[in-house]
Amino acid sequence: MLRSMRIIDRIGLLFAGLFLGCGVAETTDTAMFVDSPTMIDPQAALAIHMVDVGQGDGMIIKTPSGLTIALDGGPDRSGSYADYLKMLNVTRVDYVILSHGHSDHYTGLGTAIGLLPKDCEARVFDPGFARPDIAGYQYIRDTAGCRYRSLTMNQSLLLDPKLDIQILGVTNTPYPQNDSAGINNTSAMIKLRYGKFSMLFTGDAQTESEKNLYMNFPAQLPANVLKIGHHGSCNATGTSLLKAVAPSYAIISSGGPSDPSNFGHPHCQTLGKLRANGVHYYRTDQNGDILVISDGNLFSLSPGRGAPDSSACPRACAQPTDF
Ligand SMILES: [Zn+2]
Repeated sequence: MLRSMRIIDRIGLLFAGLFLGCGVAETTDTAMFVDSPTMIDPQAALAIHMVDVGQGDGMIIKTPSGLTIALDGGPDRSGSYADYLKMLNVTRVDYVILSHGHSDHYTGLGTAIGLLPKDCEARVFDPGFARPDIAGYQYIRDTAGCRYRSLTMNQSLLLDPKLDIQILGVTNTPYPQNDSAGINNTSAMIKLRYGKFSMLFTGDAQTESEKNLYMNFPAQLPANVLKIGHHGSCNATGTSLLKAVAPSYAIISSGGPSDPSNFGHPHCQTLGKLRANGVHYYRTDQNGDILVISDGNLFSLSPGRGAPDSSACPRACAQPTDF
């Protein structure tokens, strides 16, 4: 019933957008959720694999035209992300996008960059934050060589003619200061559209950066699926942003209770917000690898194991932020 209501809401938005003369592209989040991924033709499908990399983010996007995009690579140079590329029989990666300069996102991308064509096309993208003293981060840029480009706000990435990929948030200047939170807030926030399907990726953006996204791009926010920011931390997924995105499903990449780094992701507050807003979710620590698939009209999610909406959380964080 809830899903039906959401679809009706979205169709209403679509007609409102047309009536007001807005572009249809701004309301292309009317894809219909189906429980069975077998209803979706794999030949025409966009597939977004969220790899279970533990505490970190690592995703592989197979585009409808058959291209492969690596979006973050997890914390291991030759671990689960590299194994997943092999499992998918990926012998060529066409593009690499790094959301921001933290090791739980860039380390595994070395493998993906090794599978890029040896040309000089623009193929490797990051926020342009310059930190040559962080060897692993600098390695990505150095290895990319002439294939490297920094991302800019409101940029359209023309990687696959069937996809619309827009950068809705990015900065090369950490804020509020040059520390962990500041670098998280440089994160590239990406809206990906394929037909009537759309998904929003927010990297590890925290409240400060999420507020900018919320203020700058209100019409672009609604999405069928939300990649939850900062591994489900209590300093991301602001309530106002979540309500504006209004996803049917969210996916979270986190280490969970057994994470040795003990960040405690996903925090109990974030899972509570998702449940309070009727958003179903899968999380890598409980569900393993997660696959999102869409033909542009229908979309479906498949977990590696388990049921959605697990409420198990390592802990509530002491100083949550929200807006
Ligand atoms: Zn991270």
